[in-house]
Amino acid sequence: MKIVLLGPPGAGKGTQAEVLTKKLLVPHISTGDMFRAAIKNGTAMGIEAKSYMDRGQLVPDEVTVGIIKDRIAQSDCSGGFLLDGFPRTIAQAEALDKLLEDKGGLDAVLNISVPLEKLVERLTGRRMCRKCGAIYHMLYNAPAKEGVCDACGGELYQRDDDKLETVTNRLDVYEAQTAPLIGFYEQQGKLFTVNGDQPINAVLADLGKALGQDWA
Ligand SMILES: [Zn+2]
Repeated sequence: MKIVLLGPPGAGKGTQAEVLTKKLLVPHISTGDMFRAAIKNGTAMGIEAKSYMDRGQLVPDEVTVGIIKDRIAQSDCSGGFLLDGFPRTIAQAEALDKLLEDKGGLDAVLNISVPLEKLVERLTGRRMCRKCGAIYHMLYNAPAKEGVCDACGGELYQRDDDKLETVTNRLDVYEAQTAPLIGFYEQQGKLFTVNGDQPINAVLADLGKALGQDWA
């Protein structure tokens, strides 16, 4: 099973990727995690990627594609993989098709779709305690008293990353970059869009259905 998982920030992609890879017994290849690990470990690839990031530039496709190529050549990917965070652009998707040309290509592209206002609600809901660092969420894990930490009575605040302006910007960037991918894979007949605005287990069951699995 060679799968790409698509979905905007806040769609619950990380959670689903974790369960999917366990069910399908394939590795979860998250480009974000790979970049962070490579930079932390100071590998040649990490140093190269960091040199672009430090200049405020995007890591060029050839670097990212090279990283993916090496990763999917590893033995744990012989039975397939789940790609998360790659491809992000049509050019990357075309490069991926080329990499998989003699491996039968991708099997499926799973797209988790959530209405924009729900994404905003999810992404702006986090609150942190200034005193003890406890994390709350206004939707899923609200404190008993608004603005006050249950654990220590400290003041709760919203991180800059979670503010409406930043969140809207992240969602706009995703939409601009990745929306064309949906058409690209639709044309290939590989796209399966699943409603992400339902409980985690129901989303998983629908993802399974798209892959011909009965996980309900
Ligand atoms: Zn606290």
